[in-house]
Amino acid sequence: MPPVPSHTKSSLERTGRDFKEIHEWLDMDAEKKAERHDVTKIYEYGKMMEEKFGKEGRDEYIRHLHDDMKAKFSHLQHDFEKQIADTLAYFGVK
Ligand SMILES: [Zn+2]
Repeated sequence: MPPVPSHTKSSLERTGRDFKEIHEWLDMDAEKKAERHDVTKIYEYGKMMEEKFGKEGRDEYIRHLHDDMKAKFSHLQHDFEKQIADTLAYFGVK
């Protein structure tokens, strides 16, 4: 998943603000990281972000989840395709 500086750069380019506090809140606490990326809490956390940072902050919170999900599934797909290729090669199938 993209690191915090990548998220802040992306926010800055999109909005003119880096929303560092939001990205650090999501990523920097190892114990709470999974809970904070839980998409079933998007309404609760999205509302909290909107109250604290406005609609733009809420959107950047959602965008962070989107970018992480995209990166994670892209990585998963790459690993899957490599595993399939390795398995086929093992059995002599090309
Ligand atoms: Zn994240």
